[in-house]
Amino acid sequence: MENFFNTGDTNKPSETPLINQYDDLRDNYKQIFLEAANSIRSEIAKFKPENPCTLCSVNNCKIEKKDIFTIFPSGCAYKDWQAKTLTFLNGEYKQKLKNSYKMIMDKKCNYECSKCGDCCRLAVSEYSYEQLKQRAFRGDKYSKDFVSVFVPYKSEEDAKKANPKYFEMLGELVEDRTYYYYCPRLQNNLCSDYEHRPDICKDFPHNPLKLLPSRCSFNEWKNEVSHQSMLLKAKTDIIEFYKQRLG
Ligand code: SF4
Ligand code: SF4
Repeated sequence: MENFFNTGDTNKPSETPLINQYDDLRDNYKQIFLEAANSIRSEIAKFKPENPCTLCSVNNCKIEKKDIFTIFPSGCAYKDWQAKTLTFLNGEYKQKLKNSYKMIMDKKCNYECSKCGDCCRLAVSEYSYEQLKQRAFRGDKYSKDFVSVFVPYKSEEDAKKANPKYFEMLGELVEDRTYYYYCPRLQNNLCSDYEHRPDICKDFPHNPLKLLPSRCSFNEWKNEVSHQSMLLKAKTDIIEFYKQRLG
C-alpha cells in the first residue's frame, strides 16, 4: 500500500505502473491476512481445554479432528471452548480492534490538509445521486452530508478533466460502478462555506484504506498506518467469519 499510494513528491510521476503497485498491494494483503489469521488462532487457543476426552462422559464419540469449527456433541468440553471464543471475540477482542482503529485515526491529527481542493473537485461514490438521496431520506448520515454539498458531473469526460490522474487511478482500481461528483462551493480553490461545511468534509479522509487523490497530504498518514490498517481490516473480516460459523 505504501508504494501504491506513494506521495513523497506529488508532482513527480510514479516510477512503478499502477497495475504493478496494485499487485504489490494484493501480495502484501495476503501476507497480512495470514498474519492476522495466525494471531487470532493463537489468541483462541488459550481457551482450548487440554485432553478433556479422558474425563468425558459422552459415549461413542468418534471425533478425531478437534478444531474450533468442529461440530461437537452437547456436554462436550470443546463446546465450552467455542462458547468462550465467541464471548472473547464479541467482547475483549472487539474492544482491542476498536482501540487499534482509534490509534489509526488519532495519528491523522499529525497531518494537515494542504488545501489542494482535489477532494472537493472530484469525489466518488458507488451510489448514483438518486440512490444517495434515497439513502439520505432513509436517515443515512454520510449520504445526507454528501448530497448536501456534492452534485454529479454531467459526464465522465468532465470528471476526468477535473483530475485526470485520480480519475485514471479510480478507473483502474475500483471494481464497483463509480459515480463522480464535485462541490460547487469550491471557489478559487477554497471552500466558500468553510464554517458550515458538513462533517463529511471536516472528517475527510475517514478511512485509511480508501484511495485518495495523489496530491492529498493525508496520503502520508495512509502510508504511515497502512500495515496497521490492513491488519485491522483482515482481523475484522476474520472475526466476522468466526462469529458466523460459531454463532
Ligand atoms: S463544502 Fe467546502 S470543504 Fe466541503 S466539499 Fe465543498 S468546498 Fe470542499
Ligand atoms: S485532497 Fe487532501 S490535502 Fe487536498 S484539500 Fe482534500 S483533504 Fe486537503
